[in-house]
Amino acid sequence: MSVAIRFENSYAEELQGLYLPWQGQDWPDPQVLLLNTALAERLGLDAQALQGDAGAQLLTGQGLPASARPLAQAYAGHQFGGFSPQLGDGRALLLGEIVDPQGQRHDLHLKGSGRTPFARGGDGRAVLGPVLREYLISEAMHALGVPTTRALAVCTTGDRVLRQNGLEPGAVLARTAASHLRVGTFQFFAARGEGDKLRLLLEYAIARHDPDLSGADDAALRFLERVGARQARLVAQWMGLGFVHGVMNTDNMTISGETIDYGPCAFMEGYDPATVFSSIDHQGRYAYGNQPAILLWNLARLAEALLGLIDADETRAIARASEVIEATRARYREEWLGVFAAKLGLRDPDAGLIEAMHALWTGQGVDFTSFFRALPQVLGGDDSAVAALFQAPDQALADWLRDYRAAFLAQAGDVAQLDAVNPLYIPRNHLVEAALAAASDQGDMAPFLALLERVQAPFTEVSGADDYARPAPGDAPKIVTFCGT
Ligand code: AMP
Ligand code: MG
Repeated sequence: MSVAIRFENSYAEELQGLYLPWQGQDWPDPQVLLLNTALAERLGLDAQALQGDAGAQLLTGQGLPASARPLAQAYAGHQFGGFSPQLGDGRALLLGEIVDPQGQRHDLHLKGSGRTPFARGGDGRAVLGPVLREYLISEAMHALGVPTTRALAVCTTGDRVLRQNGLEPGAVLARTAASHLRVGTFQFFAARGEGDKLRLLLEYAIARHDPDLSGADDAALRFLERVGARQARLVAQWMGLGFVHGVMNTDNMTISGETIDYGPCAFMEGYDPATVFSSIDHQGRYAYGNQPAILLWNLARLAEALLGLIDADETRAIARASEVIEATRARYREEWLGVFAAKLGLRDPDAGLIEAMHALWTGQGVDFTSFFRALPQVLGGDDSAVAALFQAPDQALADWLRDYRAAFLAQAGDVAQLDAVNPLYIPRNHLVEAALAAASDQGDMAPFLALLERVQAPFTEVSGADDYARPAPGDAPKIVTFCGT
């Protein structure tokens, strides 16, 4: 018996040339380790059935209902600036699409389901630690109000997989997404000069994400603008949380504006624009402070792919696309100011105040998350909690705090709103690492589940949970995360 899910398959039906029909690998002992029951219910799925044996089969790619047409997606992409004309799902499968009871369409996708023809040198596998990391961080992002793919389940496969630290438990992540269309999906056809297929892809993407643009004049250009707007909003939200994605390759930037592919990502603690966690990002290309520039760089790659659809005259197409990119730069700036104004409880973004705040933090090791949670005390007249976060609190800090109080008063801000915008609990790196190690090395899920519970309610203070709100102790090793997930 398979779990009753009625898959739709618009991607398989409409996008020939962008995938290969494929099957998941057979596993020795698939087990559901973690099921996101809230998400399952939202999707209209039977959570209880998913938790059983048939669920474990389905969520690792076996025993699929007849409506499933599993496939591996093809895409291209710029990785660390270098172009690969063919990447694709090397270890992933799109099972199909689920239309939820509200009528929204979601991809159901597996990661770690075995080698596909796109695997190149990879083993097609995923291991428990990184799969749990994606579950945890994507749930945290969702709770923080950031558009993201969502984790539906983590299954163990019953076998072990070789990684740099030895054998680790094999696992499969099941996740949902508004779609898996990426900038790199467009680059795939553009690189092959397949203009007709590119046009079909654009129509498909518009129908799925921007249906009001269907049949519009200038649809390609306006689509580029929409994607830019979504991504500008997304990256501004990342910046407001100290989130470092870590691999903003064009194959990891969605058209939907959802965060995707949680590999070497982490939340910055001490403010430093150069913060990087990825072991392979030696140049700091995807450092915290570079993310806005990369957003525009990636959008320019999408623009390039769409040029022939924007205008038959290439010079004119380039001029129009460049205008959209410049407009997105300005839009990003507005989003960024809006995010930080909200974090300060200000109605009107005060660029001078916001920029001065970033300058104050520089070189002071200020815990980014804690700073904002200390603001209500500042507004109550007590600067000590903020000052304690600085290595050397100085007159510039005192002046800024005075200006901030004045701006807040002048705009009649609401102190009670601050803690609803600024999280107390983020996935702190040292806690994430400890939780993943306990799960992966000792089979102990308790630390993971406790941390998950905190980050799923990031704004609500819980008594006895102070450790979850504190940065890593000064002697903690610097966290490095690996791409070999
Ligand atoms: P990512 O960095 O996870 O976005 O992956 C980049 C590309 O490498 C994608 O095409 C993945 O499908 C592929 N890939 C990553 N890990 C593996 C693996 N273990 N086996 C096969 N392909 C992989
Ligand atoms: Mg990827």
